[in-house]
Amino acid sequence: MTTMDRRDFLTGATATGLTAATAPLRAAFSTGSQSYPGNVNRVAVIGAGIVGASIAYNLSKRGCDVILLDKQGPAAQASGNSFAWINATYFDMPRSYFDLRTHSINEYHRLSRDAGFPVHWGGSLEWYDAANTQKEVSDGVRRIQAYGAPTWMVGADKIAELEPNLVIPGDDRMAAWCSRDGAIHAGYTTRTLVSCAVQNGATTVFPANVNRIIEQPAGMLVQSDVESFEVDLVVIAAGIDANAMAEAIGLGTDLIRPPTPGIIVTTRPMEPLINSVCYTTDTHFHQLDDGRVILGEKTGAPGTEQHLAYLAERPNAYPSSELAMQHAKRIIEVAKKYVPQFADSEIESVGVGWRPLPLDGLPVIGRPKNMPAIYLASMHSGITLAPIVGHLAAMEILDGVTVDLLSDFRVERL
Ligand SMILES: Cc1cc2nc3c(=O)[nH]c(=O)nc-3n(C[C@H](O)[C@H](O)[C@H](O)COP(=O)(O)OP(=O)(O)OC[C@H]3O[C@@H](n4cnc5c(N)ncnc54)[C@H](O)[C@@H]3O)c2cc1C
Repeated sequence: MTTMDRRDFLTGATATGLTAATAPLRAAFSTGSQSYPGNVNRVAVIGAGIVGASIAYNLSKRGCDVILLDKQGPAAQASGNSFAWINATYFDMPRSYFDLRTHSINEYHRLSRDAGFPVHWGGSLEWYDAANTQKEVSDGVRRIQAYGAPTWMVGADKIAELEPNLVIPGDDRMAAWCSRDGAIHAGYTTRTLVSCAVQNGATTVFPANVNRIIEQPAGMLVQSDVESFEVDLVVIAAGIDANAMAEAIGLGTDLIRPPTPGIIVTTRPMEPLINSVCYTTDTHFHQLDDGRVILGEKTGAPGTEQHLAYLAERPNAYPSSELAMQHAKRIIEVAKKYVPQFADSEIESVGVGWRPLPLDGLPVIGRPKNMPAIYLASMHSGITLAPIVGHLAAMEILDGVTVDLLSDFRVERL
């Protein structure tokens, strides 16, 4: 990892000390306007969440002329309000989806080194109160062991060895331990990828709300409320706005379900308390290398009329800081029963994230049939998937190949 001030996680400041590997490969790849088999030289990426940022980074690293647009700014939506656990678990089916996630975990090691952002590789522990859910987990663990996943059901002794500060009630408690999982600060990672893309020559336009995408005789015209751009191809990585974009290009299908909210609490840095991502019935939490603890809740918002009216606007924050603190304290109170030291935590921020969940739960990636100048990238688990999606999207766009690994994730299945 390069020299980087971890205190900058929440400020939006960019990473310093980029490695040589982040230097643009423009000279190596770009040999004129017909340099790529796909004849794509200029690309507009709509959305500077982690998915758009990773695609912009990978394209720009290959010397492609990239314009990255966002109606707010980097990590303004889901990627700035995510739990950010990097994993491939028993839950991820079919096998091709599990494999894609596994490839992305591997890709994280390369990308984090290249771009210079930290990943906390502490593994994960997952356990539940309900016996039937525990059985589902242990059956699932056996299934993915057969895929070679480094995961085991472990008992109290191993849990205590892994996490001396973790209290799990019940003497015969078992947990699923996956040793290769990690976690990031998703906002910081996204901003780092954007700043690396800029170092590689990408142009960013924030805020710029894209309102029309028009096919022209040669290429595409992207119209935003600030400027219009002529490009060879448009990447749509618009998170929860995927359906509006699908309509704008006349795709003829929605991409995602109505998004659901989740609250994410970030504490100020604490002494090292836990190493693993911990996920259980009523809470989940992990601790970053800089000491900050990230917590999420499992209960969901109450379905009162007042709540529903407020949530209809899809806010990323509570209407008042008092209310935000009240909810954050409630979430910490639950987690405190597993790590009593959380009682001393100070709350740094509380965010509300909206999950972009495709209609059948699986990612939508690639060019729609008959739309060669459009590339879709819509997914939940975008934190886990961003590295591999960025890498493979750049290959499909610039090398003109169809990557087999993505064949189960094309839009035509919806
Ligand atoms: C509470 C919560 C917990 C989660 N936990 C995990 C987890 O543990 N692990 C995991 O892998 N994933 C997790 N996810 C999912 C993950 O965060 C998302 O899949 C990922 O952040 C999506 O990234 P994205 O870039 O596609 O979308 P976003 O980050 O939402 O970015 C989309 C961007 O597009 C911009 N945009 C939209 N429309 C336009 C337009 N017309 N013009 C210009 N810009 C536009 C928006 O402003 C936004 O910045 C979680 C999500 C939430 C909400």
